[in-house]
Amino acid sequence: MKSITIQDVTLHLVGLPLVEKLKTSYGAEPFKSALIVELTTTDGHTGWGECPTKMRPSYAYETIATAQHVLTEFLIPAVLGKTVQSPTELPKLMGASRGHPMAKHALESAVWDVWAQANGLTLAEAFAAHLPAGHAPKGHALVGVSIGIQDTIPATLDIITKRLEQGYGRIKLKIAPGWDIELAREVRKVYPDITLMLDANSAYRLSDADHLKQFDDLGLLMIEQPLGFYDIYEHSKLQPMLQTPVCLDESIHSAGDAQMAIELGACKIINLKPARVAGYTESLDIYKICVAHDVPLWVGGLLETGVGRAANLAFASLPGVTLPCDISATDRYYQRDLTEPPFVLSAGSVIHTPAGHGLGVSVERDRLAEGAAFWRANYPYQV
Ligand code: MG
Repeated sequence: MKSITIQDVTLHLVGLPLVEKLKTSYGAEPFKSALIVELTTTDGHTGWGECPTKMRPSYAYETIATAQHVLTEFLIPAVLGKTVQSPTELPKLMGASRGHPMAKHALESAVWDVWAQANGLTLAEAFAAHLPAGHAPKGHALVGVSIGIQDTIPATLDIITKRLEQGYGRIKLKIAPGWDIELAREVRKVYPDITLMLDANSAYRLSDADHLKQFDDLGLLMIEQPLGFYDIYEHSKLQPMLQTPVCLDESIHSAGDAQMAIELGACKIINLKPARVAGYTESLDIYKICVAHDVPLWVGGLLETGVGRAANLAFASLPGVTLPCDISATDRYYQRDLTEPPFVLSAGSVIHTPAGHGLGVSVERDRLAEGAAFWRANYPYQV
């Protein structure tokens, strides 16, 4: 495989209006924010990566502003001018800086893109090249759709109907105390057979176990992250009390966390967000752990633009990703995304991976400029 040498890195702060806001138990942000990394190599390739964290420290402690700071002052200087044989060398190059996984993920993603291009591979093939034989990409990912907290149950049912008509084969509902059991029961009455799951985003406590047991007769695919956002231990107490499989999202920050969660019986399913675990190198290690333990794995989403969506889709097309992913078609999120062509939903609730090398989508410079202008006009916290 060809090595690459990192020549230059540029950051683009962007804001994009959302077609539909996603309200969770953490609240909702007014628009989508992202920090886009543009990376060039000495042999003329340009790669792209996305830091998908939010403006507020809500889902994660990182914000767009902390990511910009850490990338500019520490991570980019650590990689400039460096030659790597593989993108899997990036975590070590950035290792002097603790934490800040989403900032690291953005830079590592851009390196995966240029490395795949330099070696004439799709991004999915680049990931598979770092796995044992037998993990060739499928060419598509199985996907579902996530529905935020609405004002009423009838409004939720209307959105579910619309998404099912669009062809989504798995529905996920965000829940919170007071917006949970009745909602799930009413949805099951109308749609007894759909593939349905819930995401609590850490809204409950272990003392709510009896409350959560009420979901057991609803035939749910899983309940995601019911307890604390760093917790594994209490989830290991909760899972044996429930028939519904528990899926961990927020609590899994590394391959070590995944190993511990599986060995303690804290979950039966893992939601992998590559940005949450500092990139695709760590993601590949989590993938291998899940395959070795026969634990179902899927790829979650953070409302990524086309840059992050293309990369997550490539990862989600690996055969060890076995459950529907939160990677919806572009039109579920944006009227104008940063990339072309848009991702579209195909029959069987799948999205196909692009055929081109690297990310396989083109980043549109005029959209980046629009996104930067939107950011400057709308960022709510700057004085
Ligand atoms: Mg989640």
